[in-house]
Amino acid sequence: GKQTGRNNFQFYTPAMNEQALERLRIEGDLRNALDHGEFLLHYQPKVDLASGRVIGSEALIRWQHPQLGMVSPARFIGLAEETGLILPIGAWVLRAACTQCRQWQLGGYADISVSVNLSVGQFLQKDLVSSIADVLEDTGLPPESLELELTESLMMTDVEHAIGILAGLKKLGVRLSIDDFGTGYSSLAYLKRFPIDVLKIDRSFVRDITIDADDAAITASIISLARHLKLRVIAEGVETDEQLDYLRHYGCDEIQGYLFSPPVPADKFEQILRQDRVM
Ligand code: C2E
Ligand code: CA
Ligand code: CA
Ligand code: CA
Repeated sequence: GKQTGRNNFQFYTPAMNEQALERLRIEGDLRNALDHGEFLLHYQPKVDLASGRVIGSEALIRWQHPQLGMVSPARFIGLAEETGLILPIGAWVLRAACTQCRQWQLGGYADISVSVNLSVGQFLQKDLVSSIADVLEDTGLPPESLELELTESLMMTDVEHAIGILAGLKKLGVRLSIDDFGTGYSSLAYLKRFPIDVLKIDRSFVRDITIDADDAAITASIISLARHLKLRVIAEGVETDEQLDYLRHYGCDEIQGYLFSPPVPADKFEQILRQDRVM
């Protein structure tokens, strides 16, 4: 143990050491993962309930670590944010997702869109708008085919500043979505001022809509709110037919979740695109 004060001893157990070591190792490896080409994107289909068709995809990063195997973003996105590595990684995600989506469009699926998650660090980067404009120009992806998923906390750190950035993004023509909606601290009053297009209902509400009256009420209210504000609304984490029925009944526009498909590699996503109506 290390002495931190007269009577305060902090003990390091072997387990803590191992954790710290793993963290250090992951951080070191994360620095090289881009150069080594270890990242890839999986795509999860978004199904439009009116047409029963796949109309979009969410790009989700995966890390194929040479020793650890597939590392989930839950294990490294936080670390990437703390170390600033999220900037080059996020830039890679954006370019790879836009390139892929444009390829699908040229392959005959002209209306398919792609959603990309933006981290706080990326959002606050000075050249965010121009770097996205560059990627759109280089890849040929129409701006309206790109959706950015932003969290409430990301927008609430500095509301006035955020509104300025959002306006710049809107001017480009990309679509803006509030991810994990309902879990953050945004005031409803700001919904009016944020130039957003989509509300994405968080999985934690969707999970229990058929068993918890509060979650059911919250979900129905978010759908109603979105309709009145003329925003599209999508539910994430849809796993059962009962959840789907409920969402359909209340007029949810789109769903995403294991019920239809988990996130899949690009070639698998293409097979899904070849199907006509899926729901
Ligand atoms: P998120 O943006 O909320 O993404 C949805 C997560 O829910 C994904 O986890 C997805 O695989 C999972 N999911 C989808 N459908 C279902 C379902 O029906 N049931 C359940 N239980 N889970 C479902 P994933 O891919 O592990 O990503 C976790 C988080 O990591 C994401 O949450 C996002 O916050 C972050 N992330 C992933 N890729 C990126 C990225 O490229 N950039 C940034 N900044 N963050 C990313
Ligand atoms: Ca998301
Ligand atoms: Ca989400
Ligand atoms: Ca979530």
